[in-house]
Amino acid sequence: MPDISDFTDPVVAAIYEQYEKRGETEKARTYLGASIIGKECKRALWYAFRWASTEKFDGRMLRLFQTGHLAEPRFVADLRAIGATVHDVDPATGKQFGFTHFGGHMRGHMDGCAVGIPTGGQKWHVLEFKTHSAKSFGTLKKDGVKKAKPEHYAQMMWYMGKSGMDRALYLAVNKDTDELYSERIEFDQVEFEKIQAKAESIIFASEPPPKISDDPKFYICNWCSHNDVCHGNRTPALSCRTCVHSTPEREGDGRWSCAKHGPEIPVHAQRTGCASHLPLPFLITYATAIDAGDGWIMFQRKDDPAKQFIVTDEATALPADLPLQQYIYASNEISAAKDHRAICDPEIEKFRTEFGASIAG
Ligand code: SF4
Ligand code: SF4
Repeated sequence: MPDISDFTDPVVAAIYEQYEKRGETEKARTYLGASIIGKECKRALWYAFRWASTEKFDGRMLRLFQTGHLAEPRFVADLRAIGATVHDVDPATGKQFGFTHFGGHMRGHMDGCAVGIPTGGQKWHVLEFKTHSAKSFGTLKKDGVKKAKPEHYAQMMWYMGKSGMDRALYLAVNKDTDELYSERIEFDQVEFEKIQAKAESIIFASEPPPKISDDPKFYICNWCSHNDVCHGNRTPALSCRTCVHSTPEREGDGRWSCAKHGPEIPVHAQRTGCASHLPLPFLITYATAIDAGDGWIMFQRKDDPAKQFIVTDEATALPADLPLQQYIYASNEISAAKDHRAICDPEIEKFRTEFGASIAG
């Protein structure tokens, strides 16, 4: 019998490909989302807010996310069928309920709100709908939302704090069996304030918070999409959010300013950065910044302190008296280098100086 274990089903492959194509057009979020603020590692949240690495999902995963969204109207219909009054969109706008804070740098969209829930009296409840694998559902039933799903708990707490409702209803389904689980959650002002303090400390920090572990194989790091940047010496892609000249401002609607180019950088321009880009030194994890001037930063490689190099923007002429002229890299070369050992490598340097080559990944 032929071995078909490696056979790729062409129908399935084509469907997944469609999801991937559509997924590619989705851009990184411009804000810190309420749906992720409960994550344990603050550093991961900072990386996400700064677009340090963008998560790529395969077609199967993208379809799985859609499964979660498709379940929402059914949850709404189920609640209405038992007599609850449900708003799944804001009656004033016809759109999903949305909340913002910290000058628009934190945002979240609530699944809805409801009144007339059994045992809920006449209180309006924030609604949060989730789909679970059988294993995750089992843990949820055993431990409750706060312990089993702290991210979901934090999300609801934030919506309650922002909306003024002091109750939330968590409604979840086991995707294998269609078994349902519900839990009513009470607002906790202290928890809300802790979430706010956490978000503020991430949004306005100019350097990444400490690692949750120094071990890249630690169970949380192992699944983290920023592992390469955090533990693996990968410099993030070039954008305004990784540039020393940018600042997330407290006034405005998600406004970022640039010390070089003005009080507001349009989002489309933030995504690519400009020729004046200079990386935030803490993002170059394999080296330590030892000196700096207008338009340049000098680094020393941690694994080989004899190897020093200068990162410069493309728009500034370096002072003539700087030492180490042979190891000078444009900011985009540093971002493109997949392996930090390419930096200060004499062989690669020969190509750069003799043929005008540059590191392109
Ligand atoms: S790899 Fe680990 S320490 Fe680094 S951001 Fe991710 S979870 Fe945090
Ligand atoms: S200097 Fe360029 S890359 Fe840096 S923040 Fe300003 S516009 Fe963005």
